[in-house]
Amino acid sequence: MKILLAASEVVPFAKTGGLADVAGALPLALEELGQEVIVALPGYKVIQSRHGRDKMQKLKDDISYSTIGKNIKVYFIENDKYFNRDGLYTDKTGDYKDNLDRFSYYCKRTLELLKEINFKPDIVHVHDWQASLIPVYLKTLFVNESFYKNIKTILTVHNIGYQGIFSREEFPKLSLDWMLFSIEGFEFYGKVNILKAGLEFCDYINTVSPTYSQEIQTKEFGFGLEGVLNKRRDRVFGILNGLDYSIWNPKTDRFIAQEYSFKTLQDKYNNKQDLQKFCKLPLNLDVPLFGIVSRLAEQKGFDILSEAIDSICKMNLQLVILGTGDIKYHLILERIVKKYPKVISLHLKFDDPLAHKIYAGSDVFLMPSRYEPCGLGQMISLKYGTIPLVFKTGGLADTVNEENGFVFERYSKDDLIKSIKKATAAFQNKNKWNALIETAMKCNFSWEESAKEYLQLYEKAKTK
Ligand code: ADP
Repeated sequence: MKILLAASEVVPFAKTGGLADVAGALPLALEELGQEVIVALPGYKVIQSRHGRDKMQKLKDDISYSTIGKNIKVYFIENDKYFNRDGLYTDKTGDYKDNLDRFSYYCKRTLELLKEINFKPDIVHVHDWQASLIPVYLKTLFVNESFYKNIKTILTVHNIGYQGIFSREEFPKLSLDWMLFSIEGFEFYGKVNILKAGLEFCDYINTVSPTYSQEIQTKEFGFGLEGVLNKRRDRVFGILNGLDYSIWNPKTDRFIAQEYSFKTLQDKYNNKQDLQKFCKLPLNLDVPLFGIVSRLAEQKGFDILSEAIDSICKMNLQLVILGTGDIKYHLILERIVKKYPKVISLHLKFDDPLAHKIYAGSDVFLMPSRYEPCGLGQMISLKYGTIPLVFKTGGLADTVNEENGFVFERYSKDDLIKSIKKATAAFQNKNKWNALIETAMKCNFSWEESAKEYLQLYEKAKTK
């Protein structure tokens, strides 16, 4: 099958979040399954400065490309006015004012490019609002060109909270008929909503976990788009993201004190000791060590965690927290560390090597997210035999259960505390705990599995 993947960020070229990981890993896994894939993203300044012109080939004045995997061409849509600047979407004053111009240009130019390189895809797989005009343009501006006939589109939503909303006055910039500024199109409470139009125009909708695909059809999680999604519910699917096991593997991880597998669990405890030493916590293997690696945000459960933290610190446990985010949570946590210096170790920064040490050295990984489209932390911790404790939502509900972790079902401080008590009690039974670790470490969330599911969805779209 011929596939175009269109996303506004792709590892290893440009990244601000998980979207880039998916857009970088999925094409490689699809190629392994024998598919013909190309990728298109904006040619940001950061790509030229970080990757250098030498690794990029010039195709046209405004198009360069690079190759990933065996033979996947990644095309960069260049435009000095729109993309030759420091950020991807924002500067320190907030969103760029011309984001609608920038990403509508990217979408249109990507479609033109297909014809210029004579690559007619069976499937165009677009991601998030920045690429959502592609399905719209295919059925409007490009609908009368035979080259573009029968191309099927899939739109993946990575977080429904980001929709690309602009004022009504900007609509003419899209070069579309005002008819489309309607309830079945772009109109959203009097504004232009790009993701909404994408959801209306694409052939299939997909999110990054099965549970999240259901949740976003409800008022609680849909951020106003639940109606659109509900209307198209027979077209809405959920496929879990995979995890890159070449990076996240305790058998080969060079950041941790000692590599290990479930056959050499004693070595995991050496990592625990190393982490306790690094964090200046009492060296004691009998106390359960809880780890957190996260953005400090309400989405990640820091509202109930801050309410519960005093009670948690009174339990017989240790807690290492690595993260940055809302200043509010920085302050709350700094205050609590002063009160319980032998219980909590706090690291308010982004630190990849330390994240690896926490995944390897902790006994339990705390991830009480209020909502979680997919989540990587829990998948990483499972691989490291660090038992996840999660709220039952989104991708957390699809990857963690009573067999491999701890799950609480009511989003409240009390239920979080109860679940932590349950985990500390379970930790006391060493044989059972080690069996739990083994079950966790055997879980497999590889990209190969996810790519096979995507391929099934592509087949469905192609034949419908
Ligand atoms: P998000 O919603 O932030 O994308 P995920 O769980 O999907 O949440 O992915 C977060 C990723 O970022 C994980 O790989 C996690 O280990 C990493 N991460 C988050 N905060 C930090 C930090 N402060 N230092 C290092 N890594 C971090």
